[in-house]
Amino acid sequence: MASASASASASGTGTGTGTGTGTDESAHRHERHHRRRDRSVATSSSSSTASAWGRANRGYASATPSFEIIDHEYDALVVGAGGAGLRAAIGLGEHGFKTACVTKLFPTRSHTVAAQGGINAALGNMTEDDWRWHAYDTVKGADWLGDQDAIQYMCREAPKAVIELEKYGMPFSRTDEGKIYQRAFGGQSLDYGKGGQAYRCAAAADRTGHAMLHTLYGAALKHDVQFFVEYFALDLIMDKGECVGVMALCLEDGTIHRFRSHQTILATGGYGRAYFSATSAHTCTGDGNAMVARAGLPLQDQEFVQFHPTGIYGAGCLITEGSRGEGGILRNSEGERFMERYAPSAKDLASRDVVSRSMTLEIREGRGVGKDKDHIYLHLNHLPPELLAERLPGISETAAIFAGVDVTKEPIPVIPTVHYNMGGIPTNYKGEVVAPKNGDPDAIVPGLLAAGEAACASVHGANRLGANSLLDIVVFGRACANTVAGKLKQGAPHRKIADDAGSNAIERLEKIRNSKGTAPTAMLRKTMQKVMQEDAAVFRTQETLANGCTRIDDVAAQLDNLKLTDRSLVWNTDLVEALELHNLMPNAQTTMHSAERRKESRGAHAREDFPDRLDDAWMKHTLAYVENGKVKIDYRPVHDYTLDAEMDVIPPKARVY
Ligand SMILES: Cc1cc2nc3c(=O)[nH]c(=O)nc-3n(C[C@H](O)[C@H](O)[C@H](O)COP(=O)(O)OP(=O)(O)OC[C@H]3O[C@@H](n4cnc5c(N)ncnc54)[C@H](O)[C@@H]3O)c2cc1C
Repeated sequence: MASASASASASGTGTGTGTGTGTDESAHRHERHHRRRDRSVATSSSSSTASAWGRANRGYASATPSFEIIDHEYDALVVGAGGAGLRAAIGLGEHGFKTACVTKLFPTRSHTVAAQGGINAALGNMTEDDWRWHAYDTVKGADWLGDQDAIQYMCREAPKAVIELEKYGMPFSRTDEGKIYQRAFGGQSLDYGKGGQAYRCAAAADRTGHAMLHTLYGAALKHDVQFFVEYFALDLIMDKGECVGVMALCLEDGTIHRFRSHQTILATGGYGRAYFSATSAHTCTGDGNAMVARAGLPLQDQEFVQFHPTGIYGAGCLITEGSRGEGGILRNSEGERFMERYAPSAKDLASRDVVSRSMTLEIREGRGVGKDKDHIYLHLNHLPPELLAERLPGISETAAIFAGVDVTKEPIPVIPTVHYNMGGIPTNYKGEVVAPKNGDPDAIVPGLLAAGEAACASVHGANRLGANSLLDIVVFGRACANTVAGKLKQGAPHRKIADDAGSNAIERLEKIRNSKGTAPTAMLRKTMQKVMQEDAAVFRTQETLANGCTRIDDVAAQLDNLKLTDRSLVWNTDLVEALELHNLMPNAQTTMHSAERRKESRGAHAREDFPDRLDDAWMKHTLAYVENGKVKIDYRPVHDYTLDAEMDVIPPKARVY
């Protein structure tokens, strides 16, 4: 790989990494560029150098332009500006690190904005509460696949995390006494399951994610965090097993950016869009997970995909569990409140996997509603209209727009819909990415951390409890920043890496951009989504999963036959969608293969042919590697220990609600 002759520093303080023939001009232009796009945040100077890698020195196929490469150096880098990424960035800023946050979306458009119901914390505002009861519910909800040290950490930190959000200015709903309002949510109990329903979910009406994301972005702007908005992270830069940064494409002008960082935090969200019907945004394409898989690292527990019981029939939009927390009831075609049969205590507020399976069984047994008897009704029309207006205004509007329903008068047609990925990038409770090495199942991958839905800490195990994800993102976003603070000095010099480090990302980008096959991205994506929807569904069998493995591998092989029509680099949405499809695919493959291998039922993974949870054989995390388009499976132990004596280990038992 030819490299260039000189490097230039935009700020005058940069060391440069010696790849560039660049001029100060292009680096300065990019400083101006992201200042212009996000004026209030770009206060720190990045050490940026520009260089050109292109056809002449790379031997690319035909349409390859000469790339402008901009080098940047930061202490720490966050990829993603949802709740997890912003909380990590705030923490890094607070610790005085020179921090960059790279995000393909404007921060407040991140998927966190869509979260409705709330965030769990044992604040005790409505009844007496205890974080250990919350931890008990979480371990049980996770069907004993969660790491109990991480669960202890999250639940113990939860009240602090929510108060911190309040202090940042988050506009929570309030009780009459002015305390943060907390509602009932699924799978939440008092006194280790013996004290009845808990009211633990702190809410801002039914727009909690919106309130949280805007609050966090505001808080981040107070710190010296440089945002690179609408920059698409392409791949990790790995050097001798250590993550030393990330390659990214600036969507606005097609320049390539090489970010060096001592510590990189992936907070890229979930991959709900691997499925045909999902509550998540079209941007939830598991990009960080795919970057990790391409780096030869494993993804953990990918078989555990949560179906939310109440997606609007046909549209897939979410109706929050908070609607049942406020008194909503599910009924079948006979008008029966069927959850009383499946979960006599918790009823409609049983854990999500339990409710989704119960609804599916009702439909299968002919008690679905509608012309095709293929969905269920969610009734809110017995609740006072004032309550609906105050506590559930958002979903009332959603139901009107997407189902044509006036919730004060009619039931909402609903069906279980893909909602959350329990699996992801394996981390410990400090946010450090782990990958087994030399017999150590918890070996840390240097320089790499992850938080939020992209990560698998693993606090959600086989099934996430509602309102534990908004908690996860702030607790582990903060944990990542604290971990970095424990091991990194501000301004530490970057070691020299290969001149062409990151070139594989550009080669991949170029291969995709110049795809001249016959399969348009939208067509291949739909094929993938249908396979996932059909073969990795709420209920699974060996037959559907084995078939699904063959089918999804065949779809993945067709990536080489992709057809792009737009070959430009400036705002090329054709290219972005193709990159996202490439990222969705390893997520889909690892989900299907991990599910095929797990011969038991646990949490969201319901096998009709193996209906029982089999702890002796299967209380272990699945690790899925992708090598040359094929999935390889391994396992690592679940942490069945706690951090300290403040919490006892919760031994496995039957999971009934
Ligand atoms: C409709 C809905 C309602 C929900 N309600 C609740 C709730 O009430 N309570 C609860 O606890 N949970 C809820 N959840 C789940 C929760 O909202 C999500 O799990 C959580 O918000 C994910 O946050 P995150 O920060 O990990 O990811 P996201 O908010 O998805 O952010 C991902 C970030 O990564 C960036 N990114 C991704 N790929 C790239 C790339 N290649 N390059 C650069 N940047 C990239 C994006 O720009 C974005 O900024 C809900 C989920 C849905 C779908």
